[in-house]
Amino acid sequence: MAIYAGVELGGTKCICILGSGPEDIRAREQLPTRDPPATLAQIAEILARWNSGAEPLAAIGIASFGPLDLRAGSRSFGRIGMTPKQNWAHTDLASYFTQRFAVPVGITTDVIGAALAEGRWGAGHGLSDFAYVTVGTGVGVGLIHDGRPLIGAHHPELGHARIARAPGDDWPGHCSFHGPCVEGLASGPAIEARCGVVAVDLPPESPVWSLVAHALGQLSHLLVVSVAPQRILMGGGVLSHRAHLFPEIRRCLRASLNGYLDIAEVNESLEDFIVPPGLAADAGPLGALAVAIDTHKQAMESTGK
Ligand code: ZN
Repeated sequence: MAIYAGVELGGTKCICILGSGPEDIRAREQLPTRDPPATLAQIAEILARWNSGAEPLAAIGIASFGPLDLRAGSRSFGRIGMTPKQNWAHTDLASYFTQRFAVPVGITTDVIGAALAEGRWGAGHGLSDFAYVTVGTGVGVGLIHDGRPLIGAHHPELGHARIARAPGDDWPGHCSFHGPCVEGLASGPAIEARCGVVAVDLPPESPVWSLVAHALGQLSHLLVVSVAPQRILMGGGVLSHRAHLFPEIRRCLRASLNGYLDIAEVNESLEDFIVPPGLAADAGPLGALAVAIDTHKQAMESTGK
């Protein structure tokens, strides 16, 4: 069996894993995310060590915080865009690794990577079309369409969609660009700004959770009427251990659609339509591994092997 390396490049830490899937992780190393030269050199050292083992790497997958240029054929493909993360804007991640390793290197965002991992091993398994929503420091949405990530002129950013407000709620929201977009209402920092306590400490009976569920129900409405997913996976730090929110999010979606769509997924079994992810916290590094596996497969197909 081929062996792969995955690198999840996060805002505060990076996780490198070696293996071929969740049941076959052979090594895992974590390092803090510092400035680009130091961080990337440390990652390259780990990958080089793994690549010089008995079984060389078949491919490397990178799943990074965004924004990233993922346009096929773009001259800046694999480069980080404008980011508040100090010194990381315009870092050319793809070139850094392709110049150092003679194996295929794949790259995508952390959110799209996690969606790919969920499709391969988790709650999106067997589906051709689904959405993966992560609610944490921000709200990220990875879209899988026809078995592949949906990327247009740039990767979609549905966490910043403007949505209908819950009746009576006129709090201005916490997104510095849009105020009350989905992220400005439902992210961890938004909850903290509104309540004065971090989301993890907010008691389940707080009425603010209903407003968070409303925002995520609105996002679900938008997903259903735009990309028509077979399922919506919702996870991330804000939603973990918050099982009580799922029935409310489903209720908000059903009320918002108001009977418009005559499709079984939405009208009959919302319990199977909006679900938690299957891979929990491992979706990030496994996402990088999924990118490596897909990249290897594409490389083999293009060389006719
Ligand atoms: Zn926004």
